[in-house]
Amino acid sequence: MGHCCKDASCVKACPQNCIHPAPGEPGFETAETLHIDARSCIDCTACVDACPASAIKPEGALTIAENRYAVRSREFFAPKPVFLGPAPQRASFEQPLGSPYDRLRIAVIGSGPAALYTVRELLRRSSSVRVTVFEQHGEIGGLLRRAVSRDHAEIRDMIRLFEVPFKDDRVEIVFNTEVGIDVSVADLRTSFDAVVLASGALEPRKIGFADTMRRVGVYEAKDILFAENCGLSDPLSHGPIGPKCVVVGAGNVALDVVRHVSRIRAGAARGEMVTDLVVLSRSAPERTSFTPSALYELLDLEDIEVLLDGAGTAVNARATSPLLRDISKLPTVDISDDGNLSKVYRGKLRVILSFGNDVTNIEGTSLGELAVVTASGRRLIANSVICAAGFTTKEIDGIPVSENGAVLNRRGKVVSRETGEPLERLYVVGWAKRGATGGVGDNRVCATETVAQLAADLAADRPHPTPTCLI
Ligand SMILES: Cc1cc2nc3c(=O)[nH]c(=O)nc-3n(C[C@H](O)[C@H](O)[C@H](O)COP(=O)(O)OP(=O)(O)OC[C@H]3O[C@@H](n4cnc5c(N)ncnc54)[C@H](O)[C@@H]3O)c2cc1C
Ligand code: SF4
Ligand code: SF4
Repeated sequence: MGHCCKDASCVKACPQNCIHPAPGEPGFETAETLHIDARSCIDCTACVDACPASAIKPEGALTIAENRYAVRSREFFAPKPVFLGPAPQRASFEQPLGSPYDRLRIAVIGSGPAALYTVRELLRRSSSVRVTVFEQHGEIGGLLRRAVSRDHAEIRDMIRLFEVPFKDDRVEIVFNTEVGIDVSVADLRTSFDAVVLASGALEPRKIGFADTMRRVGVYEAKDILFAENCGLSDPLSHGPIGPKCVVVGAGNVALDVVRHVSRIRAGAARGEMVTDLVVLSRSAPERTSFTPSALYELLDLEDIEVLLDGAGTAVNARATSPLLRDISKLPTVDISDDGNLSKVYRGKLRVILSFGNDVTNIEGTSLGELAVVTASGRRLIANSVICAAGFTTKEIDGIPVSENGAVLNRRGKVVSRETGEPLERLYVVGWAKRGATGGVGDNRVCATETVAQLAADLAADRPHPTPTCLI
């Protein structure tokens, strides 16, 4: 399943229970995509119609590049028995949303994918609920609109899913209102029966002690990608500067940046063109943050040559994972030696993956370059640096945030930092709940869990009917 966003709409549609891992099954949380077991599939195409990301194709229609997905599906099922028979009972009872009062009013903060699935789930469980969505910008969609790459057209097309719930009579959207600045969470908690935070996690993680962003030649990945996706007159038109650029962080956002650099470099002035792009991963290769599909997307590009830094953590060529085996086969280069810089300005962009580099600081050098310093004492000299080291939730008054940058919660119920007890009628969903991980579709199962908690709390609060005397 290429471009699968893991929202699991297909799982419910499949009469044969051939799509795994399904929500609730082992491995669902960590899986990059779901897989179809070709041995039990009856080719009824119900899943194709149900898939919002157009990710399902018959095997015969796959391109050579897409064939990797079929291979991965076969590998996924190879050692396991075929899943036959009725699907395991996953959701036996769905609590409707009832109000202890006459009318149920719920505030949702944010209008990204997590808000979309939350609003859909709220409307599904109640015909009389009223939902008010507060969005700080003038348009809905969150990162799906601003951050998801134009290379992922099927995922970007999922913006159409917003139309039904956000245009429903029961939903009102208040634009250009930042909760925490224009209206407080405390005020919302007194005006609504429940408040759901779907505000995402887009504060860049800080690198080192210095305010690195003030240095000339240091960029934030999100600024570069937003400018490209929103068609802004590019505030970064002079960057990144080459010939050597370092990307700090090696998740999918970092690899989106690599594709961006390969696209724009033809327009750069000679001498400033990026020829070598070093992608620094803090983790060892077996714990890479980028997904296999994101790497394969790079390997398939004609104007990029992907190499491995010989001085980074070594890759185990005998590993069982196909991804690690593929990485271990990449040609190696020593990037500590500037003599190894590519001198071919109009040739392919050399992308060098380097593992085991915990970056502790970014400093200026006396020659006007930048030095990226790692915990192990390496100093990588670069002409520009792009920070893609992850994101955390922005602090909002009254909302406890954990050390990993997500709102403190238990299965979607926000809990107090001091007591660990749930804060009444305050919920969280999406990146604000899980931290900055997972794609657009991951927010669906996440929203179902949060709304289920909300429904259970409302049901528990409902006053018991007063016994009526019939005589
Ligand atoms: C660069 C990048 C590329 C990505 N590419 C992909 C991809 O190709 N495929 C994929 O499946 N996923 C991708 N993702 C992940 C995907 O975007 C996330 O899973 C998803 O957007 C998270 O949804 P969310 O609703 O939790 O957060 P967001 O999408 O961030 O939505 C949060 C919303 O809340 C609003 N908001 C925030 N604070 C406030 C406030 N205080 N008051 C009012 N409104 C507020 C924001 O403006 C925003 O609209 C990418 C992410 C990034 C950063
Ligand atoms: S085509 Fe196969 S996988 Fe898809 S719904 Fe039908 S049986 Fe399930
Ligand atoms: S995108 Fe969703 S519906 Fe489509 S294949 Fe993936 S999990 Fe199934």
